[in-house]
Amino acid sequence: MERLQKIIAQAGITSRRKAETMIQEGRVYVNGQQVKELGVKADIHQDEIMVDGVPLEKEEPVYYLLYKPAGVISSVDDEKGRRTVIDLVPPEKRVYPIGRLDSDTSGLIVLTNDGEFANILMHPKYKVRKTYIAKVQGMPLRESLKKLEKGILLEDGKTAPAKTKLIKTDNKKGSSVVEITIHEGRNRQVRRMFDAIDHPVLKLKRERYGILDLKGLNAGDWRELKPHEVKTLR
Ligand code: URA
Repeated sequence: MERLQKIIAQAGITSRRKAETMIQEGRVYVNGQQVKELGVKADIHQDEIMVDGVPLEKEEPVYYLLYKPAGVISSVDDEKGRRTVIDLVPPEKRVYPIGRLDSDTSGLIVLTNDGEFANILMHPKYKVRKTYIAKVQGMPLRESLKKLEKGILLEDGKTAPAKTKLIKTDNKKGSSVVEITIHEGRNRQVRRMFDAIDHPVLKLKRERYGILDLKGLNAGDWRELKPHEVKTLR
């Protein structure tokens, strides 16, 4: 017997927190009885659980690592009909992205139907390191990058210390490539951090996410996570 919200999250419908809201909204029935209070337990194999009128089936969890190309939206669907990350992975399972990358950012994103796993990785307390390769305007001085390493004040507060490494500068084009590692996940955070030191981002790619990297993949490719990768991230 497990709590209903956990069962719903594990079935890949949504995160545990959103499952709680669904229960409170009266969208969940167990053996024909509406359940609106939290804390009720059920058995996925013995009880008939319905969410929005659809019986719940325990789905095998899947975990995809996708190399998102720039121009693709990191959500399940897009109201303007643009291509999303869901269009790039196998359609058999209902997965969703863990966190998001801006449409103009390329790189590593994980998709899953395991709500529990997604919840853990997205929790601010759980500090997954993310490494980005940023092509920026100009040639940032060491002291400017130091500001990012100390933490820089953005409109939504000071950022946690980042790691940076100047990879190369192109004097002719007036741009540089910087590797930056952060463990927060605020909206457009890397772009805003470079804006704050007056070196706007021209191109951004997420190269690593925790222990995962893009080795062997081209933009648009995906692969399944290996069991040990899921275990380590969890
Ligand atoms: N930071 C950004 O600015 N954009 C992303 O897509 C990810 C991190």
